[in-house]
Amino acid sequence: MKKDFTPTLLDLGPLQIFLARHFGFCYGVENAIEIAFRTIDENPGKRIFLLSEMIHNPQVNMDLKSRGVTFLQDTYGKELVSFDEITSDDVVIIPAFGTTLEIEKKLQKIGVETQKYNTTCPFVEKVWNRSEQIAEKKYTVIIHGKPNHEETRATFSHAAWHTPSVVVNDFKETELLAKYIMQPSGKFYDDFKNQFSNGFDVEKDLERIGVVNQTTMLASDTQAIADFLRQIIIKKYHLDNSNVDTYFADTRDTLCYATNDNQTSVIKMLQTPADFAIVVGGYNSSNTSHLVELCEEKLPAYFINTEEKILSAKQIRHYNFHTKEEILTSGYLTERTPVKVLITSGASCPDALVEGVINKLSGFFPESKLGHEGLGYF
Ligand code: SF4
Repeated sequence: MKKDFTPTLLDLGPLQIFLARHFGFCYGVENAIEIAFRTIDENPGKRIFLLSEMIHNPQVNMDLKSRGVTFLQDTYGKELVSFDEITSDDVVIIPAFGTTLEIEKKLQKIGVETQKYNTTCPFVEKVWNRSEQIAEKKYTVIIHGKPNHEETRATFSHAAWHTPSVVVNDFKETELLAKYIMQPSGKFYDDFKNQFSNGFDVEKDLERIGVVNQTTMLASDTQAIADFLRQIIIKKYHLDNSNVDTYFADTRDTLCYATNDNQTSVIKMLQTPADFAIVVGGYNSSNTSHLVELCEEKLPAYFINTEEKILSAKQIRHYNFHTKEEILTSGYLTERTPVKVLITSGASCPDALVEGVINKLSGFFPESKLGHEGLGYF
């Protein structure tokens, strides 16, 4: 059945909220949270560690910490607790992004059972499997992702175990890579420092390639990158559509369904004329920042991680993910009514936060159908 991506209208009178058809928690995140809390219940008295943030959501992570879970690394892989302190009696949960083979081996060497409390999302594993399949056919894996993101580091590690691999962050880096595909040069090693696998040989490892992506990248960006590299390969080897697969593996996109549905819903929601958009989610959440990026192209978009950032009817504190800082904007609510607001949230954002945002906004319109009572009124 064709999916419906039309936004849901919550008509509160002076305030009209258009809620993205698909938003918030995905299967992978729900699964990871469930396993994490089950792990706590099943292991009373044991030390429980999380390799890094469970998901990119501060509330969920704080909740886990308050139940006694300790984080082993920060989101960039910096150790917060030394691995030397871990013993085989400890429980270590692997987060939804998965982890690198190096860390998995390190834990196994200590005697920690890494499979028992592994919450790696099946859609991330699907990318690893896809990389493995093309590696078997001797293609180099190009990963479109953020080089420092946990998931990309994990995918890179799994791909690099099987075949030469490189990470490209965006289209600009892809153009640079294309230059080396056409004309290999040692300068590649400087330009892609820390983004290629050990022993990478620029002379021969860019001859046959396939593209996979971090599951939460912008679908249109990954598509543009794959299409562009395909054309470069066609040009280099004088190929056409009938024989390009000799040098370019057909990976199709490796985005997960939740990323796809959330992005498509936002694209559809943006067809509704509105005053501004609010995107709710963790500031270091990749999939959420891509939703903000889509909204920003059309109208003012405010990226917040809790309703508390809506300070008043006049001011909102929100995150600028380009400059990585919170900024204060005044006069975000128009005087003219009805005020039309588009709302969505990232895959790691609990629905309660979206509800909080709706309640906060409606509170500024006492004459609205929710008024100060909030959604609970219904
Ligand atoms: S966003 Fe997709 S890949 Fe990531 S945890 Fe959710 S379902 Fe899995």
